[in-house]
Amino acid sequence: MKEDRPNWRDRYPDEVTCVRCLEVHDQMYLDRLLWCDRCRALARNRAGWWGWLGGWIFGAGLVAYIWIFIRPTSLVIGGWFGTVAMGIWLGSKACREIAYGVIRFVNARAIEAVPPKADAPSE
Ligand SMILES: [Zn+2]
Repeated sequence: MKEDRPNWRDRYPDEVTCVRCLEVHDQMYLDRLLWCDRCRALARNRAGWWGWLGGWIFGAGLVAYIWIFIRPTSLVIGGWFGTVAMGIWLGSKACREIAYGVIRFVNARAIEAVPPKADAPSE
C-alpha cells in the first residue's frame, strides 16, 4: 500500500462507529460503508436466506418450464432432477449476490443495533 496516496480511511478517526450496530470499532475492522466485520457477516447471512428463497423460486420456474414446454420422458427424469438442482443452486448464488448488493446499497442505518433495555422485536 502506498503511503502518499490518500486513503478513505484517512478521513476517519481511529475509532469509528459502525453504522449498522452503532458499536465503536477500530477503523481497521470497518469497510468503506462503515460496516464492521460482524455486520457484514450478518448481512451475508441474511442475503444467503434471500438467495435460497430466490433459488427455490427460480427452481420452481424451471420445473414449470421443463414440465410444460419440454415434457420430459420418464427415461431421463434423473437428468432433469440434476438440471433443476443445479438451477436452484446457481439461482441461489445469483440471488444471494443480488440480495447482498441490495442490502449494501440500501445501507440501512443502525439495523443491527440493540436498543438499550428495550424489548427486542421478534422477527
Ligand atoms: Zn456493526
